[in-house]
Amino acid sequence: MATILTEEQILELDKKHVWHPYSSFDMSLAPFPVVSADGVRLTLKDGRQLIDGMASWWSVLHGYNHPVLKAAAKDQIDNMAHVMFGGLTHEPAVKLCKTLVDITPTGLNKVFISDSGSVAAEVAIKMAFQYWISQGQKQKNKIITVRNGYHGDTFITMSVSDPENGMHHMFDNVLMEHIFVEAPQCMFDDVFSEHHVQDLKQTLVEKSDSIAAMILEPIVQGTGGMRFYSPAYLKRVSELCDEFNVLLICDEIATGFGRTGKLFACEYADISPDILCVGKALTGGFMSLAATLTTDKVAKGISEGEAGVFMHGPTFMANPLACSVANASLELLLQGNWQALVSNLQKQLLKGLLPAKDLEQVADVRVLGAIGVIELHEPVHMPTVQPMFVEEGIWVRPFGKLVYVLPPFVMSDEDVASLTAGMVRVVGRI
Ligand SMILES: *Cc1c(COP(=O)(O)O)cnc(C)c1O
Repeated sequence: MATILTEEQILELDKKHVWHPYSSFDMSLAPFPVVSADGVRLTLKDGRQLIDGMASWWSVLHGYNHPVLKAAAKDQIDNMAHVMFGGLTHEPAVKLCKTLVDITPTGLNKVFISDSGSVAAEVAIKMAFQYWISQGQKQKNKIITVRNGYHGDTFITMSVSDPENGMHHMFDNVLMEHIFVEAPQCMFDDVFSEHHVQDLKQTLVEKSDSIAAMILEPIVQGTGGMRFYSPAYLKRVSELCDEFNVLLICDEIATGFGRTGKLFACEYADISPDILCVGKALTGGFMSLAATLTTDKVAKGISEGEAGVFMHGPTFMANPLACSVANASLELLLQGNWQALVSNLQKQLLKGLLPAKDLEQVADVRVLGAIGVIELHEPVHMPTVQPMFVEEGIWVRPFGKLVYVLPPFVMSDEDVASLTAGMVRVVGRI
């Protein structure tokens, strides 16, 4: 395909007109123009190739430019790229919903498809509120959550994301106030004891009458600190939600589709929430798509309520192109050997990252499934550090004190070794 802009022109226009995630217009750090991606490698405009440690933020599972995903997209484009979902339905959507129902924890039978993770979490919370309104319990209008969570950048999701890492201070005049309890302190390998849920229990005793739902990321708190916590803690959270008549929302937008070593992280605790969000890896990183699943009980409650319908409906809901690619990606995942790939990645990441443990600037090294984390004592200085990774031939995008990778599942041992060695070298020079 003809490219007509030079690297300088791209950077100039970018600097002038384009917002990037969490960016400002007077930041000195320019982005790197990328022209293509194949397998686990990104190709920059200047010809350099980088081994991709980020999987485009948790989403690329089978590698970039995958022939099966491309074929699914091309077939669907020739048929219909999009059609509205109000009053119409189509095979790509019903197939996708059926697969999601089949592979997620039991009881989640009703699927609402949306376009991004934040919207899927937004929809989950709206379902919970609308459920209780329908039950005549309008006073249940708060969400309870744990600290260090992350559920998106829209207003309700921001209001239940970590108040310190998040944007609560800046937006305290406009954010709705929800209820925070202590972050999980019982980490992945720790022995659970009842005192780990003391704060949650006490808060539920005092406030459950006003609480619609509890939302949290199962097992891995991603953006809020890359913290891996105990399945036994999650199990107890689920029991307490039942006991106190609070719906449980599990946000598997980051953890879903095998990333943690289970297909869904809820499986570690053998729980089934009332509402579950998926996103990120749903199309194998090909395009934006997300979904919110719920139980017959919640769906029936909403449908029998005053409104009679669930009050949400995105214009591009269940876009056939995205659904087709999701179906192809899930088929690749489920018919492939993802468990073996992820458990091997866990081994290789641990082997490659452990040497960082001896560095004095490093506070912790941890790995779960295909997630590898080096936690530093101090936040990194991005304008210095970002180009250092590129010089090493790897794509790693740290935030705060966290230098982490989530490789596509298909990364070879050799590439993992190069990726982790580059990370350790860069961290060593910080
Ligand atoms: C990324 C993420 C979201 C938000 O998804 P977007 O697609 O970026 O809107 C929500 N929850 C979790 C746990 C996430 O990791």
